[in-house]
Amino acid sequence: MKVELNQNLTAEDIKKLDADAVVISTGASAKIPNIPGVKNANVTTAVDALLGNAEIGDNVVVVGGGQVGCEVAYEFLRAGRKVSVVEFLGGLIAGGTEPVSAAVVLMLEDLLNYYKADIHLSSAVKEIKEKSVVIEKDGLSEEIPADTVVLAAGFVENNSLYTDLQDCGKDVYLIGDAKKSPGNIMHAVADGNKVGREI
Ligand SMILES: Cc1cc2nc3c(=O)[nH]c(=O)nc-3n(C[C@H](O)[C@H](O)[C@H](O)COP(=O)(O)OP(=O)(O)OC[C@H]3O[C@@H](n4cnc5c(N)ncnc54)[C@H](O)[C@@H]3O)c2cc1C
Repeated sequence: MKVELNQNLTAEDIKKLDADAVVISTGASAKIPNIPGVKNANVTTAVDALLGNAEIGDNVVVVGGGQVGCEVAYEFLRAGRKVSVVEFLGGLIAGGTEPVSAAVVLMLEDLLNYYKADIHLSSAVKEIKEKSVVIEKDGLSEEIPADTVVLAAGFVENNSLYTDLQDCGKDVYLIGDAKKSPGNIMHAVADGNKVGREI
């Protein structure tokens, strides 16, 4: 099998390939919420923060208290940062309704409490400033310090290649997070397995 790394394929590249079938597994990208200041230099995404692609200051505000937001918070609390988590809903990890095992939810909640995370539930981030974030809860505003703001507000499917390849004359399949996000490794592998056996 030929594996080519460091190639960013476009639909035009794929159309030129001598292939009968194409499997698109391009994953998902961070959802960027429409908040004033979201393009400021102190804002990064959960994946970039975890990969070490962004400078992380002393005061970190994580926007979104889902599984990814809680894991980011835990990572930077352990690294000695002061971390606030702002979550729209009334509980972390969708109040326990995300497709995550109850044990993982309890463990993350315990870890965040142990490391004294500053958790704001039923709260919305209204504005991102250079050194702080304005949040609102029950109609009341509060400003919390933020050297770095990490976006963990969900993901959107990267499915444009799939759309662009319709009618290209090849059998085109869409799998994994590109097909449905949020996903998980089990679903991505199961999708790949199913398509692999169908081709
Ligand atoms: C912080 C975090 C924690 C997670 N923890 C868990 C967990 O504990 N358990 C679990 O089951 N799941 C977890 N997930 C979800 C899991 O990572 C995904 O569901 C899974 O990786 C999806 O696999 P995929 O192959 O569909 O996409 P990805 O793993 O995202 O792979 C997509 C790949 O396509 C490449 N690509 C995109 N566009 C192009 C292009 N045009 N040309 C060439 N290459 C391209 C990308 O560079 C990337 O390497 C987590 C996700 C995050 C963000």
